[in-house]
Amino acid sequence: MEREPLIFVGTCDLAGLVRGKGFPLTAQAMRLRQGVGLAPSNIMMSAFGPIYDTPFGTAGDLMLVPDAKTYVEVEYALGEAERFYLGDILMLSGQHWQCCPRHFLRRALDALHNEAELSLVAAFEQEFVYTGVEHRPGATYSLDAWRRQGSFAEHLMAAIRSAGLEPDSFLAEYGPRQYEMTISPARGIRAADEAVIAREMARGVAQRLGHRAILAPVLEPDGIGNGTHIHFSLRDTADQPVMFDPARPWRMSPVGEHFVAGILDHLPLLTAITAPSAASYYRLQPNRWAPTWANVGLQDRGASIRVCPIFDRPANHNFNVEYRVADATASPYLALGALAWAGLDGIKRRLTLPELTEANFWEMTDEERRDAGARPLPRSLLESLNLLAASDAARDWFGDEFFEAYLRFKRSELKVLDGLSPPEICERYAEVY
Ligand code: GLU
Ligand code: MG
Repeated sequence: MEREPLIFVGTCDLAGLVRGKGFPLTAQAMRLRQGVGLAPSNIMMSAFGPIYDTPFGTAGDLMLVPDAKTYVEVEYALGEAERFYLGDILMLSGQHWQCCPRHFLRRALDALHNEAELSLVAAFEQEFVYTGVEHRPGATYSLDAWRRQGSFAEHLMAAIRSAGLEPDSFLAEYGPRQYEMTISPARGIRAADEAVIAREMARGVAQRLGHRAILAPVLEPDGIGNGTHIHFSLRDTADQPVMFDPARPWRMSPVGEHFVAGILDHLPLLTAITAPSAASYYRLQPNRWAPTWANVGLQDRGASIRVCPIFDRPANHNFNVEYRVADATASPYLALGALAWAGLDGIKRRLTLPELTEANFWEMTDEERRDAGARPLPRSLLESLNLLAASDAARDWFGDEFFEAYLRFKRSELKVLDGLSPPEICERYAEVY
């Protein structure tokens, strides 16, 4: 008997995991129209599997409809091929469902377009631990660590390219067995789709080699974290970059500055969306290249928001800003959407960035840092969820139903970790991500 090829359609959900259903390749055309059925409570599946709390109960029907543009078909040289789509969750009426994570991003990008005539270009850098390599002291960034991952990187790059993405780089990172992959910039929803696809390619290749790519924020409480860094820039309706102005402080045009200032303004609470797990806060600790303060830094990798250098010309095309407070427990749709919403708010309120000074942020006292416009990042998910819950702006971004569902989802995740030690908490997440 021949094997029957199957296709999966999923979305990267509130837990930041790709979940959905499969169907025969022969039904592709029909499924592109009708999608597959889902219950509203599907979106409430926790990081660890069970639905701990849901406002939707067991009732209702939705459709997860593949977006044809996201199709991934990878014929791995290593074995089993993989076919999947990413999709949107629609109501039976055909309208988008408010609690669809991909639609959260779409609404943010539409608002940015309608209210500021701008589009967003983004590239995700993702760090992870590859278990197929043994750690050796001194491996950090080394050719030796690069070599010892064997064929993983080349299979990964091939998979990424055959999935329709443009790989930018691959490197041995700072932590034990830690690597990083970067994908070239893409526009709007596509950038988030590509972040999701790249993660799955890393997991898919590792699995075919008998190992794992672990994207959890941190594997042990005192360890080096796996960050997801989101580089972004803005374009106008003529597709021209509008963020760069070398004559201004921070090298940013007024609109660029307002956008970034909006992100900075909302930053402490954005962590509830971009660093949304209990383990995320073990990553956000001093001396690990991870941010600890809600601040902007000119070419400073310790800052939450880093104004990047320009490596290539034309400068305005290559100028971008990096948001460093995200990790792989966040759905890229929610993380990028939150940045777009917060940035748009900054544009509407014409927010400005703190004055750019010569002073070294890391030599300042905490009081001086506060005087310089920085605030400490939340120390726990509970703290960041409380900030989110108190924000009328964030409630508007989500809409009431989604906002309440998201808060319940994350609070129930925290509740099940109650009583676990920090190493146990990290372990729970490392099993999943
Ligand atoms: N691993 C660091 C983090 O958790 C980032 C290291 C780097 O700058 O690439 O964000
Ligand atoms: Mg890195």
